[in-house]
Amino acid sequence: MTFLNRDQIRRLRAEYGTPLYVYDQKSLEESARQVLAFPHAYDFTARYAMKALPTAAIIRLLNRMGLHIDASSGFEAERAIKAGVDPSQIQVTAQELPKNLKSLVDQGVLFNASSVHQLEAFGKLFPGHSVSVRINPGMGSGHNNRTNVGGPGSSFGIWHEQLHRVKIVASEHQLKVTGMHTHIGSGGDPEVWKRCARLSLAIAAQLPEVTRLSLGGGFKVARMPGETTADLQAIGLALIEDFQIFSKEHGRELHLEIEPGTFLVANAGAILANVMDVVDTGEDGYVFAKTDTGMTEFLRPNLYGAQHPIEVIPASDGGKEDKIDLLIAGHCCESGDVMTPAAGDPEALAPRQLIRPVVGDTVMIGGAGAYCSGLAGKHYNSFPEAAEVLLTRSEEFKLIRKREILDQIVRNEIYED
Ligand SMILES: *Cc1c(COP(=O)(O)O)cnc(C)c1O
Repeated sequence: MTFLNRDQIRRLRAEYGTPLYVYDQKSLEESARQVLAFPHAYDFTARYAMKALPTAAIIRLLNRMGLHIDASSGFEAERAIKAGVDPSQIQVTAQELPKNLKSLVDQGVLFNASSVHQLEAFGKLFPGHSVSVRINPGMGSGHNNRTNVGGPGSSFGIWHEQLHRVKIVASEHQLKVTGMHTHIGSGGDPEVWKRCARLSLAIAAQLPEVTRLSLGGGFKVARMPGETTADLQAIGLALIEDFQIFSKEHGRELHLEIEPGTFLVANAGAILANVMDVVDTGEDGYVFAKTDTGMTEFLRPNLYGAQHPIEVIPASDGGKEDKIDLLIAGHCCESGDVMTPAAGDPEALAPRQLIRPVVGDTVMIGGAGAYCSGLAGKHYNSFPEAAEVLLTRSEEFKLIRKREILDQIVRNEIYED
C-alpha cells in the first residue's frame, strides 16, 4: 500500500518515535512530473496548493521541480517566501483578505480577488495594477457538501452573474483584470473538467483583458482500492480544443494554470502510530486498537468520513497474523476520534479486516500527505505536533520537522496572576 516496508517502519519508529508523518520524495517527484506535463494549448503554469502540506521542505522540493505556489492566506504566502519561493511565483487566493496584502504585493506576490469587496480593497491599495478574480461559475463537484467549492451553496469567489460589479470596481480603480480563476473541485472525470472549462471560458470572454485562466485544483486521487486517480493527460487533452476555439473567437491565447494540492502530495505521505491498547466491548460489540495518533494528526475521517488505507504492522515478524474486524481509535478524549468511520459518514463505525493487534504494534495510515499534517485538530488534549520525516530518493530518512514539545504549546500563555 505504501512506499515503506516493515523494516523501514521499525527503523523509523526506533529513530523518531510515534506519531510520525513520513513522506516519500520519489512519489512527490513523480506526481510533480505528471502535473508539469499537463497538456495545454499555449502557455502553462502549475501551482502547488500549499495548504495541502505546508512544510517548508515539501514546498522547496516541489518549487525546485518547477511548481509555483497557490497560497490560501497572507500567512501562507509569507511562509512560502520564508521557505525560499520567489514572491513572483506565489498567488494568493484567500477567504480572508490578507492583512499583509500591501507588503506581499510590493514584493511581487500575485493577488486573486475572491470577492467584490476584496477587489475593491486591492484597488484602493494598488490603483492601476493587474489583478485576477476568482469566479464561482455556478457549478460545483466536490465529493460532498464540505468539499464543494462551487455552486450556489459555496461562498468562494464572485458569483458569475455579478461580473458587472467586477467591471465597475475595476474601472473605479483603473484595475486591469488580466487573470481569472475558478476552483470548483472538478474531480477525475475529463468530461466534468471540460464542462467547467467551457463555463470558465464563457465567463473569460466577458472580461476582455483576461489572458490567464486558472482552473484550480481538485484532481481526484485514489487512496483506497477500487478508487481511480485522475488521468491528467486525458483531462488536459480534453481542454485543448476549447482554448484553441476561444483564441480564434476572441484573439486571446489564454495562459492556462492549474493548482493541485491533493494530487501532488496525497499518496506521498503516511502516518505511523503505536498501538497503545487493545480493548473490546463484548460479544455484540467491537474490538478497538487505540493508537497514539488521531484527530490531532489526522482529522479527515472526522470531517468527511474520509477513507484511508490502514495496516497493522506487527512489532516483529513470525507471528500468526490472523485478521479480525477492527476499529482504530485515536488518543483524544472525544468519542468521535475514530479513524475507521463509514465512507462519507463520520458518525458511523466501519470495522476493517486487519491483523489482530497487540500493544506495541504499528498502525500505518496511507494516503496521508494531503490535508493531514496541514489540517489537524492541533493541540487538542495538549498533544504536541508530530514530527515529519522525508524518505529521500537515496532511501535515507531526513527529519524535516521536529517533534513539538509542551513548552512550545504554552509559550504564549501568561502565568502571572
Ligand atoms: C485547496 C485549493 C486547491 C487545491 O485543491 P486540491 O483538492 O487539494 O487539489 C486549489 N486551489 C484553491 C484556490 C484551493 O483553495
